[in-house]
Amino acid sequence: MENNIINIKRQLKGLTLDELKEYFKETGEPAFRGEQLFNWMYNHLAVSFDEMQNFSKQLRAKLSGNCLIQALELVTVQDSPQTGTKKFLFQTSDERKIESVIIPDGDRATLCISTQVGCPLDCKFCATGLMGYKRNLTVGEVVDQYLLAAREYGKDKITNIVYMGMGEPLLNYKATLSSLSIFTAELTKGLSRNRITVSTSGIAPKIRELADSGFRVKLALSLHSCFEDVRSTIMPINNKFSLKDNIESIKYFARKTGSRITFEYTMLKGINDRKEDVKALIKLCSQIPSKINIIPFNSIAHMNPGGISATLEPTPLKEIEHFAQQLRDNNITVMIRETQGNDIAAACGQLAAKY
Ligand code: SAH
Ligand code: SF4
Repeated sequence: MENNIINIKRQLKGLTLDELKEYFKETGEPAFRGEQLFNWMYNHLAVSFDEMQNFSKQLRAKLSGNCLIQALELVTVQDSPQTGTKKFLFQTSDERKIESVIIPDGDRATLCISTQVGCPLDCKFCATGLMGYKRNLTVGEVVDQYLLAAREYGKDKITNIVYMGMGEPLLNYKATLSSLSIFTAELTKGLSRNRITVSTSGIAPKIRELADSGFRVKLALSLHSCFEDVRSTIMPINNKFSLKDNIESIKYFARKTGSRITFEYTMLKGINDRKEDVKALIKLCSQIPSKINIIPFNSIAHMNPGGISATLEPTPLKEIEHFAQQLRDNNITVMIRETQGNDIAAACGQLAAKY
């Protein structure tokens, strides 16, 4: 009988330093090769073994035969001429499409990365939620968004990474943690640990785990309302992990990491922009070291939504400013995020592959 030997290559992109050292030991090579490969992939942004000059020709051939170091393929880069925003479209090996965005702001540039294809949480204002859940991204796919974008844009020019693209990072917890381990490793030069923010819709037990993990990342909670019933209407996950649970968890996170929490607040007309919302926010912020990031609601009309999603409207900018002023008058730090990249559908909550 014919013997079909299928050669499945091992994906090394996404392995942490310890895992790479282990891999080399297993294959009869010295562990320090793991450190060298880590350096090539995550510092020098190498995409082929041929680039690795301190590896012998033989070793490069062996690695090329057995391993892969590209988890994503860059399909297109789209520029927004108005804002300088760049949207990257990537393809996975199973032909899923994912997007990441670079948002420049003065001498900073923030890369927004995804952790899932789609999202299972069905927030009513979110385009990703409307597309449903396909699968978790692998660690390699999470870090390759940064590595491939950095190759195009310039590694040193990306100053911040936010986990605010498609998906809920704390529902893909293991991959999120491994990606943080890579991004914050001593060996990954130029990427300060203070510049990474994980944004969550509020998976309370995982917020505690993240606090205990020792990675000094910043946390953003997608708050959107201080009232349980309103929050449950627009964010069904609130029925499972209530705001009360999440507030306890973020207090723990703030205490344990000594960092300030960011509350993300997408302004929805008549839903969370009322007088009582201002009052409730003032009360909440007095209990937790925090700041508020107001996000003007980006249209999701391109997804042709039904139900409550079809009825959502943005709060007019003038009213947003008035809302923010009342908070500032109470010594709360408030940022109103500019809607960037609207013209190329690269704004927050619009990251949904329409392919
Ligand atoms: N799943 C995570 C991270 C991705 S969403 C989370 O929910 O936090 C990133 C941010 O964009 C969240 O604060 C989310 O609530 C917000 N967002 C989603 N859709 C939006 C829209 N249409 N307009 C404005 N902000 C939106
Ligand atoms: Fe998922 Fe975040 Fe969108 Fe909610 S806002 S559906 S958690 S990506």
